Amino acid sequence: MKKSNSQEPLLIENDVDLRAFNTFGFSCRASRLVRVRSVEDVCAVIAHPELGRLPRFILGGGSNIVLTGDVSALVVKVEVSGLELVEAREDAWIVEAGAGESWHGLVEWTLARGLPGLENLALIPGTVGAAPVQNIGAYGMELAERFESLDAVDLATGHTRTLDRNECRFGYRDSVFKREAAGAFLITRVRLRLPRPWQPVLGYPDLASMPEESGNLAPTPSGIFDRICQVRRAKLPDPAEFGNAGSFFKNPVISSRQFRALIEREPSIVHYPLPGGDHKLAAGWLIEVCGWKGRSLGRAAVYDRQALVLVNRGEASGHEVMALATAIQESVFDRFGIRLESEPIVLGE
Ligand SMILES: Cc1cc2nc3c(=O)[nH]c(=O)nc-3n(C[C@H](O)[C@H](O)[C@H](O)COP(=O)(O)OP(=O)(O)OC[C@H]3O[C@@H](n4cnc5c(N)ncnc54)[C@H](O)[C@@H]3O)c2cc1C
Repeated sequence: MKKSNSQEPLLIENDVDLRAFNTFGFSCRASRLVRVRSVEDVCAVIAHPELGRLPRFILGGGSNIVLTGDVSALVVKVEVSGLELVEAREDAWIVEAGAGESWHGLVEWTLARGLPGLENLALIPGTVGAAPVQNIGAYGMELAERFESLDAVDLATGHTRTLDRNECRFGYRDSVFKREAAGAFLITRVRLRLPRPWQPVLGYPDLASMPEESGNLAPTPSGIFDRICQVRRAKLPDPAEFGNAGSFFKNPVISSRQFRALIEREPSIVHYPLPGGDHKLAAGWLIEVCGWKGRSLGRAAVYDRQALVLVNRGEASGHEVMALATAIQESVFDRFGIRLESEPIVLGE
Protein backbone atom coordinates (compact mmCIF):
# COMPACT_ATOMS: atom_id res chain seq x y z
CA MET A 1 0.00 0.00 0.00
CA LYS A 2 1.38 3.42 -0.95
CA LYS A 3 2.22 5.56 2.06
CA SER A 4 3.64 9.05 1.76
CA ASN A 5 7.08 9.82 3.09
CA SER A 6 7.06 11.44 6.53
CA GLN A 7 9.99 13.64 5.44
CA GLU A 8 7.89 15.36 2.77
CA PRO A 9 6.88 18.93 3.73
CA LEU A 10 3.22 19.61 4.53
CA LEU A 11 1.13 20.74 1.55
CA ILE A 12 -0.25 24.06 2.83
CA GLU A 13 -2.26 26.56 0.73
CA ASN A 14 -3.49 30.02 1.73
CA ASP A 15 -6.71 31.85 0.81
CA VAL A 16 -8.22 28.93 -1.12
CA ASP A 17 -11.47 29.13 -3.11
CA LEU A 18 -13.52 26.15 -1.90
CA ARG A 19 -15.85 26.06 -4.93
CA ALA A 20 -14.22 22.92 -6.30
CA PHE A 21 -14.19 21.33 -2.84
CA ASN A 22 -17.96 21.26 -2.19
CA THR A 23 -20.65 19.69 -4.38
CA PHE A 24 -23.06 22.61 -3.80
CA GLY A 25 -20.44 24.70 -5.63
CA PHE A 26 -20.45 27.55 -3.08
CA SER A 27 -17.61 29.95 -3.67
CA CYS A 28 -16.40 30.50 -0.09
CA ARG A 29 -12.77 30.89 0.88
CA ALA A 30 -10.62 29.04 3.41
CA SER A 31 -7.82 31.04 5.06
CA ARG A 32 -5.63 27.92 5.13
CA LEU A 33 -5.92 24.43 3.71
CA VAL A 34 -3.55 21.54 4.31
CA ARG A 35 -3.58 18.22 2.46
CA VAL A 36 -2.80 15.12 4.55
CA ARG A 37 -1.68 11.92 2.80
CA SER A 38 -0.51 9.83 5.76
CA VAL A 39 -0.75 9.45 9.53
CA GLU A 40 2.63 11.22 9.69
CA ASP A 41 1.14 14.24 7.89
CA VAL A 42 -1.74 14.37 10.39
CA CYS A 43 0.72 14.24 13.31
CA ALA A 44 2.83 16.97 11.66
CA VAL A 45 -0.27 19.22 11.49
CA ILE A 46 -1.03 18.61 15.18
CA ALA A 47 2.60 19.33 16.16
CA HIS A 48 2.98 22.35 13.82
CA PRO A 49 3.73 25.46 15.92
CA GLU A 50 1.19 27.60 14.05
CA LEU A 51 -1.30 25.20 12.37
CA GLY A 52 -1.49 23.01 15.47
CA ARG A 53 -3.17 25.81 17.41
CA LEU A 54 -5.92 26.57 14.87
CA PRO A 55 -9.46 25.16 15.04
CA ARG A 56 -9.80 22.51 12.31
CA PHE A 57 -12.35 21.26 9.82
CA ILE A 58 -11.79 17.84 8.26
CA LEU A 59 -12.75 17.77 4.58
CA GLY A 60 -13.31 14.76 2.36
CA GLY A 61 -15.07 15.32 -0.97
CA GLY A 62 -17.34 18.11 0.34
CA SER A 63 -20.50 16.25 -0.76
CA ASN A 64 -22.26 16.53 2.60
CA ILE A 65 -21.53 20.10 3.65
CA VAL A 66 -23.18 23.52 3.31
CA LEU A 67 -20.79 26.47 3.40
CA THR A 68 -22.52 29.59 4.67
CA GLY A 69 -19.43 31.80 4.61
CA ASP A 70 -15.66 31.89 4.55
CA VAL A 71 -13.93 29.32 6.73
CA SER A 72 -11.44 30.57 9.31
CA ALA A 73 -10.71 27.10 10.69
CA LEU A 74 -7.80 25.21 9.17
CA VAL A 75 -9.28 22.96 6.46
CA VAL A 76 -7.60 19.56 6.65
CA LYS A 77 -8.20 17.83 3.31
CA VAL A 78 -7.87 14.06 3.65
CA GLU A 79 -5.99 12.45 0.75
CA VAL A 80 -4.78 9.17 2.27
CA SER A 81 -4.72 6.64 -0.59
CA GLY A 82 -4.55 2.85 -0.99
CA LEU A 83 -6.86 -0.06 -1.79
CA GLU A 84 -6.00 -3.57 -0.65
CA LEU A 85 -7.53 -6.98 0.00
CA VAL A 86 -6.05 -7.61 3.45
CA GLU A 87 -7.69 -10.92 4.39
CA ALA A 88 -9.63 -13.74 2.72
CA ARG A 89 -11.51 -15.47 5.55
CA GLU A 90 -13.81 -18.40 4.98
CA ASP A 91 -16.84 -16.25 5.80
CA ALA A 92 -15.71 -12.87 4.45
CA TRP A 93 -13.21 -10.83 2.47
CA ILE A 94 -11.67 -7.91 4.36
CA VAL A 95 -10.80 -4.94 2.19
CA GLU A 96 -8.90 -1.89 3.43
CA ALA A 97 -9.05 1.56 1.84
CA GLY A 98 -7.33 4.87 2.49
CA ALA A 99 -9.71 7.55 3.76
CA GLY A 100 -9.04 9.81 0.77
CA GLU A 101 -10.08 7.22 -1.83
CA SER A 102 -13.33 7.82 -3.70
CA TRP A 103 -16.14 5.71 -2.20
CA HIS A 104 -17.57 4.85 -5.62
CA GLY A 105 -14.05 4.06 -6.86
CA LEU A 106 -13.75 1.53 -4.00
CA VAL A 107 -17.08 -0.09 -4.97
CA GLU A 108 -15.88 -0.43 -8.59
CA TRP A 109 -12.47 -1.72 -7.47
CA THR A 110 -14.00 -4.49 -5.32
CA LEU A 111 -16.41 -5.61 -8.06
CA ALA A 112 -13.63 -5.68 -10.68
CA ARG A 113 -11.68 -8.07 -8.42
CA GLY A 114 -14.61 -10.42 -7.80
CA LEU A 115 -15.20 -9.13 -4.24
CA PRO A 116 -18.92 -8.31 -4.22
CA GLY A 117 -20.97 -6.87 -1.36
CA LEU A 118 -20.84 -3.09 -1.75
CA GLU A 119 -22.86 -2.83 -4.99
CA ASN A 120 -25.98 -1.37 -3.27
CA LEU A 121 -23.86 1.59 -2.16
CA ALA A 122 -22.72 2.45 -5.71
CA LEU A 123 -22.44 6.04 -6.91
CA ILE A 124 -22.56 7.68 -3.46
CA PRO A 125 -20.24 10.68 -3.87
CA GLY A 126 -17.43 11.47 -1.45
CA THR A 127 -14.55 9.70 0.21
CA VAL A 128 -14.09 6.41 2.06
CA GLY A 129 -13.12 8.27 5.26
CA ALA A 130 -16.40 10.17 5.43
CA ALA A 131 -18.54 7.05 4.87
CA PRO A 132 -18.53 5.96 8.54
CA VAL A 133 -19.20 9.54 9.74
CA GLN A 134 -22.80 9.43 8.61
CA ASN A 135 -23.03 5.66 8.11
CA ILE A 136 -23.85 6.11 4.42
CA GLY A 137 -26.80 4.16 3.17
CA ALA A 138 -28.85 3.54 0.05
CA TYR A 139 -30.93 0.88 -1.67
CA GLY A 140 -31.56 -1.24 1.42
CA MET A 141 -28.00 -1.22 2.80
CA GLU A 142 -25.99 0.80 5.30
CA LEU A 143 -22.23 0.97 5.65
CA ALA A 144 -22.56 -0.49 9.18
CA GLU A 145 -23.62 -3.83 7.63
CA ARG A 146 -20.31 -4.07 5.74
CA PHE A 147 -18.05 -2.41 8.30
CA GLU A 148 -15.13 -4.19 9.99
CA SER A 149 -13.05 -1.42 11.66
CA LEU A 150 -11.26 1.86 11.03
CA ASP A 151 -8.03 3.60 11.99
CA ALA A 152 -8.20 7.19 13.15
CA VAL A 153 -5.84 9.74 14.63
CA ASP A 154 -7.02 11.23 17.92
CA LEU A 155 -6.50 14.91 17.16
CA ALA A 156 -6.01 15.81 20.84
CA THR A 157 -3.17 13.36 21.47
CA GLY A 158 -1.84 12.45 18.01
CA HIS A 159 -2.25 8.74 18.85
CA THR A 160 -3.70 6.31 16.32
CA ARG A 161 -6.68 4.24 17.40
CA THR A 162 -8.58 1.38 15.84
CA LEU A 163 -12.35 1.50 16.34
CA ASP A 164 -14.67 -1.43 15.76
CA ARG A 165 -18.35 -1.38 14.86
CA ASN A 166 -19.60 -1.03 18.45
CA GLU A 167 -17.23 1.84 19.18
CA CYS A 168 -18.45 3.71 16.07
CA ARG A 169 -22.06 3.57 17.44
CA PHE A 170 -23.68 3.59 14.04
CA GLY A 171 -27.28 4.71 13.72
CA TYR A 172 -29.46 5.92 10.86
CA ARG A 173 -27.16 8.45 9.04
CA ASP A 174 -25.39 8.76 12.35
CA SER A 175 -22.31 7.66 14.28
CA VAL A 176 -20.13 8.65 17.23
CA PHE A 177 -18.25 10.96 14.80
CA LYS A 178 -21.34 13.16 14.51
CA ARG A 179 -22.02 13.22 18.25
CA GLU A 180 -19.70 12.63 21.25
CA ALA A 181 -16.57 12.46 19.07
CA ALA A 182 -17.46 15.18 16.53
CA GLY A 183 -14.19 16.68 15.25
CA ALA A 184 -12.13 14.54 17.65
CA PHE A 185 -10.79 11.96 15.17
CA LEU A 186 -9.38 12.07 11.68
CA ILE A 187 -10.20 8.75 10.03
CA THR A 188 -7.24 7.51 7.96
CA ARG A 189 -8.23 3.96 6.89
CA VAL A 190 -11.42 1.94 6.77
CA ARG A 191 -11.81 -1.85 6.58
CA LEU A 192 -14.92 -3.38 5.02
CA ARG A 193 -16.22 -6.88 5.58
CA LEU A 194 -17.73 -8.48 2.46
CA PRO A 195 -19.62 -11.65 3.51
CA ARG A 196 -19.03 -14.97 1.71
CA PRO A 197 -20.99 -16.45 0.07
CA TRP A 198 -22.40 -13.32 -1.54
CA GLN A 199 -26.17 -12.78 -1.15
CA PRO A 200 -28.04 -10.17 -3.19
CA VAL A 201 -29.85 -7.44 -1.22
CA LEU A 202 -33.01 -6.81 -3.23
CA GLY A 203 -35.49 -5.52 -0.64
CA TYR A 204 -35.61 -1.99 -2.04
CA PRO A 205 -38.57 -1.34 -4.42
CA ASP A 206 -36.37 -0.36 -7.43
CA LEU A 207 -34.53 -3.70 -7.14
CA ALA A 208 -37.33 -6.10 -6.17
CA SER A 209 -38.43 -6.63 -9.78
CA MET A 210 -34.94 -7.57 -11.03
CA PRO A 211 -35.33 -11.39 -10.95
CA GLU A 212 -38.60 -11.34 -12.97
CA GLU A 213 -37.18 -8.88 -15.49
CA SER A 214 -34.18 -11.11 -16.13
CA GLY A 215 -36.42 -14.16 -16.73
CA ASN A 216 -35.79 -15.34 -13.15
CA LEU A 217 -32.05 -15.54 -13.72
CA ALA A 218 -30.25 -14.95 -10.44
CA PRO A 219 -29.19 -11.30 -10.10
CA THR A 220 -25.46 -10.66 -10.22
CA PRO A 221 -23.42 -8.08 -8.27
CA SER A 222 -22.63 -6.18 -11.48
CA GLY A 223 -26.32 -6.33 -12.53
CA ILE A 224 -27.35 -4.73 -9.22
CA PHE A 225 -24.53 -2.18 -9.53
CA ASP A 226 -25.65 -1.23 -13.08
CA ARG A 227 -29.31 -0.97 -12.05
CA ILE A 228 -28.50 1.26 -9.07
CA CYS A 229 -26.24 3.54 -11.15
CA GLN A 230 -29.01 3.84 -13.76
CA VAL A 231 -31.75 4.64 -11.19
CA ARG A 232 -29.56 7.10 -9.28
CA ARG A 233 -28.55 8.95 -12.47
CA ALA A 234 -32.24 9.29 -13.42
CA LYS A 235 -33.39 10.47 -9.96
CA LEU A 236 -30.57 12.61 -8.60
CA PRO A 237 -29.08 15.79 -10.04
CA ASP A 238 -25.45 15.67 -11.14
CA PRO A 239 -23.58 18.16 -8.90
CA ALA A 240 -21.67 19.31 -12.01
CA GLU A 241 -24.99 20.56 -13.39
CA PHE A 242 -26.92 21.57 -10.24
CA GLY A 243 -24.92 21.87 -7.02
CA ASN A 244 -26.40 19.70 -4.25
CA ALA A 245 -25.56 17.47 -1.29
CA GLY A 246 -27.93 14.58 -2.04
CA SER A 247 -30.79 14.13 0.44
CA PHE A 248 -31.00 17.31 2.47
CA PHE A 249 -33.23 15.94 5.25
CA LYS A 250 -33.26 12.68 7.17
CA ASN A 251 -36.39 10.55 7.06
CA PRO A 252 -38.06 11.24 10.44
CA VAL A 253 -38.64 8.36 12.85
CA ILE A 254 -41.68 8.69 15.15
CA SER A 255 -43.10 6.61 17.99
CA SER A 256 -46.11 4.32 17.49
CA ARG A 257 -48.24 6.70 19.63
CA GLN A 258 -47.32 9.71 17.44
CA PHE A 259 -47.91 7.57 14.37
CA ARG A 260 -51.42 6.50 15.42
CA ALA A 261 -52.42 10.14 15.97
CA LEU A 262 -50.90 11.19 12.64
CA ILE A 263 -52.43 8.47 10.44
CA GLU A 264 -55.89 9.42 11.69
CA ARG A 265 -55.40 12.94 10.36
CA GLU A 266 -53.31 11.97 7.28
CA PRO A 267 -54.42 8.48 6.14
CA SER A 268 -52.27 8.53 2.98
CA ILE A 269 -48.97 9.29 4.74
CA VAL A 270 -46.06 7.20 3.39
CA HIS A 271 -44.55 5.19 6.25
CA TYR A 272 -42.38 2.16 6.99
CA PRO A 273 -42.88 0.23 10.26
CA LEU A 274 -39.60 -0.41 12.11
CA PRO A 275 -38.77 -3.26 14.48
CA GLY A 276 -39.71 -2.13 17.99
CA GLY A 277 -42.86 -0.27 16.94
CA ASP A 278 -41.47 3.06 15.65
CA HIS A 279 -42.34 4.28 12.16
CA LYS A 280 -40.08 5.89 9.57
CA LEU A 281 -41.74 8.54 7.40
CA ALA A 282 -40.61 9.57 3.91
CA ALA A 283 -39.28 13.14 4.27
CA GLY A 284 -39.55 13.61 0.47
CA TRP A 285 -43.26 12.80 0.58
CA LEU A 286 -43.88 15.26 3.47
CA ILE A 287 -42.07 18.02 1.50
CA GLU A 288 -43.91 17.22 -1.71
CA VAL A 289 -47.33 17.24 -0.02
CA CYS A 290 -46.50 20.69 1.39
CA GLY A 291 -46.12 21.85 -2.21
CA TRP A 292 -42.35 22.40 -2.32
CA LYS A 293 -41.29 20.06 -5.14
CA GLY A 294 -39.74 22.14 -7.96
CA ARG A 295 -40.20 25.44 -6.06
CA SER A 296 -37.45 28.06 -5.69
CA LEU A 297 -36.54 30.58 -3.05
CA GLY A 298 -34.03 33.00 -4.51
CA ARG A 299 -31.41 30.97 -6.36
CA ALA A 300 -31.99 27.83 -4.28
CA ALA A 301 -34.62 25.28 -5.29
CA VAL A 302 -36.22 21.95 -4.44
CA TYR A 303 -35.23 19.52 -7.22
CA ASP A 304 -38.19 18.84 -9.49
CA ARG A 305 -37.59 15.06 -9.69
CA GLN A 306 -36.84 14.46 -5.98
CA ALA A 307 -38.24 16.70 -3.24
CA LEU A 308 -35.60 15.56 -0.74
CA VAL A 309 -32.83 17.25 -2.71
CA LEU A 310 -32.14 21.00 -2.53
CA VAL A 311 -30.17 22.45 -5.44
CA ASN A 312 -28.09 25.49 -6.24
CA ARG A 313 -29.67 26.91 -9.41
CA GLY A 314 -26.44 28.86 -10.04
CA GLU A 315 -24.52 31.25 -7.80
CA ALA A 316 -26.80 30.64 -4.80
CA SER A 317 -25.18 31.15 -1.40
CA GLY A 318 -25.24 28.72 1.49
CA HIS A 319 -27.51 31.18 3.30
CA GLU A 320 -30.07 30.96 0.47
CA VAL A 321 -30.07 27.16 0.67
CA MET A 322 -30.44 27.30 4.47
CA ALA A 323 -33.30 29.83 4.14
CA LEU A 324 -35.08 27.41 1.80
CA ALA A 325 -34.40 24.52 4.20
CA THR A 326 -35.86 26.52 7.11
CA ALA A 327 -38.98 27.45 5.13
CA ILE A 328 -39.52 23.77 4.29
CA GLN A 329 -39.00 22.71 7.91
CA GLU A 330 -41.56 25.29 9.05
CA SER A 331 -44.24 24.26 6.59
CA VAL A 332 -43.76 20.51 7.31
CA PHE A 333 -43.97 21.28 11.04
CA ASP A 334 -47.11 23.41 10.60
CA ARG A 335 -48.92 20.65 8.72
CA PHE A 336 -47.61 17.45 10.35
CA GLY A 337 -46.10 18.58 13.67
CA ILE A 338 -42.83 16.92 12.63
CA ARG A 339 -39.46 18.68 12.76
CA LEU A 340 -37.28 17.65 9.78
CA GLU A 341 -33.61 17.28 10.64
CA SER A 342 -31.06 18.32 8.02
CA GLU A 343 -28.39 15.84 6.97
CA PRO A 344 -25.40 17.93 5.75
CA ILE A 345 -22.93 19.65 8.08
CA VAL A 346 -23.29 23.46 8.04
CA LEU A 347 -19.99 25.32 8.13
CA GLY A 348 -18.97 28.97 7.83
CA GLU A 349 -18.70 32.23 9.67
C1 LIG B 1 -25.70 13.60 -5.52
C2 LIG B 1 -25.47 13.10 -4.10
C3 LIG B 1 -26.03 11.90 -3.70
C4 LIG B 1 -25.83 11.42 -2.39
N1 LIG B 1 -26.38 10.22 -2.04
C5 LIG B 1 -26.19 9.72 -0.79
C6 LIG B 1 -26.75 8.45 -0.42
O1 LIG B 1 -27.39 7.77 -1.22
N2 LIG B 1 -26.55 8.02 0.84
C7 LIG B 1 -25.81 8.73 1.76
O2 LIG B 1 -25.66 8.26 2.88
N3 LIG B 1 -25.26 9.92 1.43
C8 LIG B 1 -25.43 10.44 0.18
N4 LIG B 1 -24.89 11.66 -0.16
C9 LIG B 1 -24.13 12.41 0.85
C10 LIG B 1 -22.59 12.20 0.76
O3 LIG B 1 -22.23 11.64 -0.46
C11 LIG B 1 -22.07 11.30 1.89
O4 LIG B 1 -22.43 11.83 3.14
C12 LIG B 1 -20.56 11.11 1.84
O5 LIG B 1 -20.16 10.11 2.75
C13 LIG B 1 -19.80 12.41 2.16
O6 LIG B 1 -18.45 12.20 1.83
P1 LIG B 1 -17.44 13.40 1.64
O7 LIG B 1 -16.07 12.81 1.52
O8 LIG B 1 -17.87 14.28 0.54
O9 LIG B 1 -17.57 14.13 3.06
P2 LIG B 1 -17.53 15.71 3.41
O10 LIG B 1 -18.75 16.34 2.84
O11 LIG B 1 -16.22 16.27 2.99
O12 LIG B 1 -17.60 15.64 4.98
C14 LIG B 1 -18.77 15.20 5.63
C15 LIG B 1 -18.49 15.10 7.14
O13 LIG B 1 -17.53 14.07 7.38
C16 LIG B 1 -16.37 14.60 8.05
N5 LIG B 1 -15.22 13.88 7.49
C17 LIG B 1 -14.90 13.75 6.18
N6 LIG B 1 -13.80 12.98 6.06
C18 LIG B 1 -13.42 12.62 7.31
C19 LIG B 1 -12.34 11.85 7.82
N7 LIG B 1 -11.44 11.24 7.03
N8 LIG B 1 -12.24 11.71 9.17
C20 LIG B 1 -13.15 12.29 10.01
N9 LIG B 1 -14.18 13.05 9.57
C21 LIG B 1 -14.30 13.20 8.24
C22 LIG B 1 -16.38 16.08 7.74
O14 LIG B 1 -15.68 16.83 8.73
C23 LIG B 1 -17.87 16.37 7.72
O15 LIG B 1 -18.32 16.52 9.05
C24 LIG B 1 -25.06 12.17 -1.46
C25 LIG B 1 -24.49 13.39 -1.87
C26 LIG B 1 -24.68 13.85 -3.18
C27 LIG B 1 -24.04 15.14 -3.62
